[in-house]
Amino acid sequence: MKNRRIPFGYEMKRGIIVLCEREAETVKRIFCEYIDGLVLQDIAESLKRRKIEYLPGESDWNKNRVKRMIDDIRYCGNEKFPAVISLETYNAAKLVKAERSTVNTYTLQKEDKPVIKNIRCSCCGGKLRHITNNRNKKNEHFVCDDCRLTVYKTVSELKTDITEILNRLIAEPSLIVTEETGGYCESPDIRCKTGEIERMTAALDVEAETVQKLIFECAEEKYREIKSEHHITDRLKAELINTAPLSCFSEELFEKTVTAITMERDGNIQLILKNGFVAGNRQISGYIDTREIMKVAEHNRKFCSIPKHGRKRK
Ligand SMILES: [Zn+2]
Repeated sequence: MKNRRIPFGYEMKRGIIVLCEREAETVKRIFCEYIDGLVLQDIAESLKRRKIEYLPGESDWNKNRVKRMIDDIRYCGNEKFPAVISLETYNAAKLVKAERSTVNTYTLQKEDKPVIKNIRCSCCGGKLRHITNNRNKKNEHFVCDDCRLTVYKTVSELKTDITEILNRLIAEPSLIVTEETGGYCESPDIRCKTGEIERMTAALDVEAETVQKLIFECAEEKYREIKSEHHITDRLKAELINTAPLSCFSEELFEKTVTAITMERDGNIQLILKNGFVAGNRQISGYIDTREIMKVAEHNRKFCSIPKHGRKRK
């Protein structure tokens, strides 16, 4: 990318620098748009779209180029350069810049990592990835790797929601229950064994003894798992009873109680607790095991306007 010898907005005539009217209009517009709230990237995109030439035949604008212009005090005029904008306009842009860097600067904290580690898309069950850009904080969002669902939500909003849900559970730990009627979530090991039993009973040449042994093994393991789920529920309740209402996000409590988060297209979230209990920010929704979530996801997908792998399709 080449640079100009004379700043954009000016041209050389008979050895002196004068305004280039056409370009100077663009400079004014850039300052106005920036003060009006457009981010550097959007301004650059707009310049490209309008095919505004930076150099003859070249309109390859990027946000750094726009930023250098916003920072360039020569546009206010000096002994060498005629003024394109007023000092008031220049200062207004500086103020916008300062506000953006204080209000919207959000650096990912160490404690945020567990929060964004396991967020699932409520449309398809896919993993939601946190997208952020240190220069353009307005752009912080989550994207589903599978269905491309995009949710504009910041980690700090997410933490506020989590804290609210956890506070409701702290206020009423008895809400958390272990599902008694078959809703418990089987471990992969048991699912595998169950499949094997089904295959064996369907086959003709299997010894009854072998199948029986496996059925007993499987039942025992299931019993252990259900017992441990009750145990987890008891531990969760004890944890919440012993915790005072949170005034801000607690990484410790989050890590102790939450396994995963599901996020909906409108930004609503649910916490999946260690025992499989699902607590949402609309209401405490009750126990759903992970297979249920996948079923809900399947149902949602049917009514979901974003096709799976939407980007790849034409
Ligand atoms: Zn998805």
